[in-house]
Amino acid sequence: MNNIYFYNTLTKTKDEFKPLEGDIVRIYTCGPTVYKDATIGNMKSYIFMDTLRRVLKYNGYTLKHAMNITDVGHLVSDGDEGEDKMVKAAKEEKKTPLEIAAFYTEKFLKDFESLNIDKPEIICKATDHIKEMEEFVQKLLDNGYAYETSTAIYFDVSKLDKYGILSGIDLRNQMAGARVEVDEEKRNPYDFALWIKAPENHIMKRESPWGLCYPGWHIECSTMSNKYLGEVFDIHTGGIDLVPTHHENEIAQSKGCTGKVPAAFWMHCEFLLINGGKMSKSLGNAYLVQDIIDKGYEALAYKMMCFTSHYRNKLNFTWEALESSQNSLNKLREGYQKHNEGNSQIEESVIEEYKNKFIEAINDDLNMPVAMSVIWDVIKNPNKSKQLAELLLDFDKVLGVNIEKTTTKKEVELPEEIKALIEQRKEARQNKDWALSDKIRDELKEKGYIVKDTKDGMTIERLDVRS
Ligand code: AMP
Ligand code: ZN
Repeated sequence: MNNIYFYNTLTKTKDEFKPLEGDIVRIYTCGPTVYKDATIGNMKSYIFMDTLRRVLKYNGYTLKHAMNITDVGHLVSDGDEGEDKMVKAAKEEKKTPLEIAAFYTEKFLKDFESLNIDKPEIICKATDHIKEMEEFVQKLLDNGYAYETSTAIYFDVSKLDKYGILSGIDLRNQMAGARVEVDEEKRNPYDFALWIKAPENHIMKRESPWGLCYPGWHIECSTMSNKYLGEVFDIHTGGIDLVPTHHENEIAQSKGCTGKVPAAFWMHCEFLLINGGKMSKSLGNAYLVQDIIDKGYEALAYKMMCFTSHYRNKLNFTWEALESSQNSLNKLREGYQKHNEGNSQIEESVIEEYKNKFIEAINDDLNMPVAMSVIWDVIKNPNKSKQLAELLLDFDKVLGVNIEKTTTKKEVELPEEIKALIEQRKEARQNKDWALSDKIRDELKEKGYIVKDTKDGMTIERLDVRS
């Protein structure tokens, strides 16, 4: 087995990775809150998760990986304020929370398919684990880490030897400057809700030892990771925004329950930016995978785009960059076909060298930009060889971009108006009315479509896919 190094948010260094037990790697990923469509920002984090899975499998490991679906308990703020996101969406869309959850979970998993994301072995819903969560909370109460107020069961962070080991916050400094808490029953400002007493009209409340309640968001991940992966597992993943609250609180809960930090490695994916700024619904730039497909690109072009930057770096999305990633994907597949049709014999040592460089890159904290540069070197090799095609196919086990697919041209659905103009131009050419043909060509260009006449007929390309 080759050495693997991952950056660990817990130690703040790149550490050598070895599974805790044998050749099985146990992973937990914080899944989506299924109250709205997942954006391409969310998908950056799951593409990172996919690459992690593929790299570990490529190294010969077997995976036991659980990802939750948050269908209750995530409040509008990541802390303890605001309404439950599911409840809010259900009211807005005039559906039940269950319907909302089923609808968006299906859409989320469809995005996984479009992006060829390798699914975790276990996908578990919060609402299916209420009993286990209740038991977890009871354990925290029994161990003296939790207390009941009139509104909730809170975790008492002052009972831990240290709260904040992941984000490195110093509670003493934070306490001094902490804003005045609205809830005067809380013992410490950083205490967070494990179990929330539901208001009269709450649609997701259920009977519990502490009355009609609904669970907090953090407790679900601690409960499900413990249930499926054990008290301590190998890797915990999520987006970088989860570090200071959600993951700190997961660690706190596990320490309170078992005395242990639940995962050896904590890996976090940096955020996606849009045109250099924040992605948001109000700015109209909370793009979905479906938006990419609707504009005539493959979802996999976005995956290629993610490989242009390290997962721990911010990535800037623009439609121009996506166009260029689609071109790269096409070139990648053309390169594979070119080698597949060749008959040159390549020395085994050359293949080995490419392979070693590729493994070194992926095992160096999933360094995909470097791994891609090795792939381009293979493609650029002037000797067309089936051995190189096979090597590319092997590397695609890590990329997951369907390198053997042959349709390299963008399949664009033309608007009716454009189709009509093309027909008119065909007719003009049949009538040898070149002036009209040229006029229509210019009109098409103005509308963003380039017409080229070739010996086999005519091709049409979109000039500006953002139109
Ligand atoms: P949520 O559905 O809001 O719980 O988020 C699901 C996952 O997507 C979490 O791991 C978030 O950290 C991650 N995430 C949210 N926004 C972005 C973004 N713009 N870029 C990368 N990851 C994100
Ligand atoms: Zn979580």
